[in-house]
Amino acid sequence: MSTSTETPAYSAGEFAHFAQDPASITAQGIRLSASDAERFTNWRWQITHQITTASTARTYFPLNQEEERGFTSLEGLFKTGVTPYYLTLAAQEQGGGAIRLQALPRQEEEDDLLGLMDPLQEKSHSPVKEVVHVYPDRVAFCVAMLCPVYCRYCYRKRRDEEEGLHYNRKIVEDGLAYIASNPAIKDVLITGGDPFIASDQSIETLLRRLRQIPHVEIIRFGTRTPVTLPYRVTKELAAILAAHHPVWVNTHFNTAEEITPEASQAINNLLSHGIPLGNQSVLLKGINDSSAKMMALCRKLIINRVRPYYVFHPHLVAGTAHLRVSLREGQGIMKSLRGNISGFAIPRYIVDTPSGKVPLDYNYVLAADGDDLIIEDIHGEIWRERDVQP
Ligand SMILES: *Cc1c(COP(=O)(O)O)cnc(C)c1O
Ligand code: SF4
Repeated sequence: MSTSTETPAYSAGEFAHFAQDPASITAQGIRLSASDAERFTNWRWQITHQITTASTARTYFPLNQEEERGFTSLEGLFKTGVTPYYLTLAAQEQGGGAIRLQALPRQEEEDDLLGLMDPLQEKSHSPVKEVVHVYPDRVAFCVAMLCPVYCRYCYRKRRDEEEGLHYNRKIVEDGLAYIASNPAIKDVLITGGDPFIASDQSIETLLRRLRQIPHVEIIRFGTRTPVTLPYRVTKELAAILAAHHPVWVNTHFNTAEEITPEASQAINNLLSHGIPLGNQSVLLKGINDSSAKMMALCRKLIINRVRPYYVFHPHLVAGTAHLRVSLREGQGIMKSLRGNISGFAIPRYIVDTPSGKVPLDYNYVLAADGDDLIIEDIHGEIWRERDVQP
């Protein structure tokens, strides 16, 4: 990878959890040489040691038949890759294997008849390559194609074909020119792939160029690095972002177990630089599709001062049939949060369509009767809210 020639951005001591005790890694059954263990908290080491084959994955834990076959049969169909950090979490997890399901390929990805490659028709909503312009005041700018972990449910699985795109100079220049020539764009959402997979310099240059455009008010990043590669979110990176405020970051935890001490450190590095954090999850079968799991996730997010923002209903993405949840189940899970956890811990339940996001939250307004509304409370009791005009 081209980025590996640059100097590591890792600062010793910041992620002390693994760094100071390499034995804590080897003790978990993961065979790392002493020098590898020392470099475990270096994010570039993590990227260059991304696990892409069954034989390497097997050194972490035995694979089941679905996974074994997934590694071979999906070759050339969907990209596979997991950071040593995230695979270590998978090795440690008890029970259902929510992390494993998100990260390891499974043969059943081949058996999805309904799935689409580009469910949001993003290509047709991109006036220039990799700028998705659906709302008048904001765009999604996909600057990176690579990710530390290739989430099995990703709705940008089609990116797997787009080898050339990674902070590609022409794509970035054309995107910046489009944004600069559209004064209505106030909010630029930098996404990918994972935009934090790039070097500090690339991110700093992109931010500097965006800040030269007077009508851009808000810059947001969508990144899964706090989950899949927390060592990337160094204090140095946070300082670069903070130099271009207002910068917001949305991350992507799907389960409470993913919020490890390393993830908390990454979150803290951003928060301590005044960067507000939100979380977007995807509702996924066997991963977070119960009221208890969703509640645990939302609670742990707010304890870490991350505001739950959206929970996405899973798209009809090719290769994801085994992870999909029905709309009824989704509405039931999301409804169960209201009244049971802090209001600001409750994200909106969203289905994304080619022309924008639509909230699917339970509708407590049952009917209109004249100007009055017939409403239901969280206990299922029915009320009439009188429309009393002054
Ligand atoms: C999700 C999305 C946004 C941001 O939407 P918010 O609801 O403001 O978070 C912007 N543009 C596109 C194309 C998107 O998909
Ligand atoms: S990090 Fe995001 S873009 Fe990358 S594979 Fe996961 S869901 Fe997709």
